[in-house]
Amino acid sequence: MRIVLLGAPGSGKGTQSKLLIEKYKIPQISTGDLLRAAVAAGSDLGRKAKSAMDAGQLVSDDVVLGMIQERLSKPDARSGFILDGFPRNIPQAQALDAMLARLSQPLQLALLVDVDTEVLMKRLTGRRTCSNASCGAIYNIYFSAPKSPGKCDKCGSNLAHRSDDNENTVRSRLQVYEQQTAPLVSYYKAQGKLRTVRGTGSVNEIFKNVTDIIEVQMRPLAAAMSAAQAAAAKSAPAKPAKAAKAEKKPTPAKAVAKAAAKPAAKKPAAKKPAAKKPAPKKKPAPKPKKKAVKKAAPKKKGAKKPAPKKKPAPKAKKKK
Ligand SMILES: [Zn+2]
Repeated sequence: MRIVLLGAPGSGKGTQSKLLIEKYKIPQISTGDLLRAAVAAGSDLGRKAKSAMDAGQLVSDDVVLGMIQERLSKPDARSGFILDGFPRNIPQAQALDAMLARLSQPLQLALLVDVDTEVLMKRLTGRRTCSNASCGAIYNIYFSAPKSPGKCDKCGSNLAHRSDDNENTVRSRLQVYEQQTAPLVSYYKAQGKLRTVRGTGSVNEIFKNVTDIIEVQMRPLAAAMSAAQAAAAKSAPAKPAKAAKAEKKPTPAKAVAKAAAKPAAKKPAAKKPAAKKPAPKKKPAPKPKKKAVKKAAPKKKGAKKPAPKKKPAPKAKKKK
């Protein structure tokens, strides 16, 4: 799946992104990481990025998009990606769409993790970190306060309040985010790709909602997959056919094959009992057939197969 994640600082989208990476085995593509890696590797794009940064300029969208495209060509991105931190404006979003269209890998979902501004303010300004570097415990004076104010529960060290977590700084960061993101929200909404998840509640609750959204968004794909699997099952009846032949039931063969296939699929762990069950069926199966043959044969003409009829034939005569 190909996802753009949108969410304010403090929205918890980074946590959700990590969970998505684990669940769906797709990479998160962070432009910051790409820039650092490209500069370190000294690639063409990395040199361009470095010269821009050295000159105190923003790295151009072309360079960033080039890095994203390179990253998408790696094997781990074959089944999708999560883009975080890009795009940040409409021109970037349009350029991204154009690039993904060329790759025939259009975005499927723009997921907005939505949290009220006042909750974000508390999350960000209420953060306190243990000053003991080897501890590093994190608290929030509003949501997860230490037992004694200003002291770490674990090691007793003083708790620190980062200077960039003060109210004015946080509020201006959130305003910048809002100004950047609102147009993107409209952009993806117009494409029908925007889905919003409430970013409040437990991490697991939020993730459940995230995965529900993804499953719904990917349902057409899932339907196509299951249709393909069903087609593959029909075109590969080798195993069920053998079972049907052994039981010598030509007419209900399909039903038998289905019955045999269903328990195996439902309980893969119980393969042994499934194999044992058909065995007793083989013995009773021939009996009804012999009876059917015996009954049918005498009614039509008794001359075709005289060998099996020798015994019953005299009995019938004696009775009469
Ligand atoms: Zn501590």
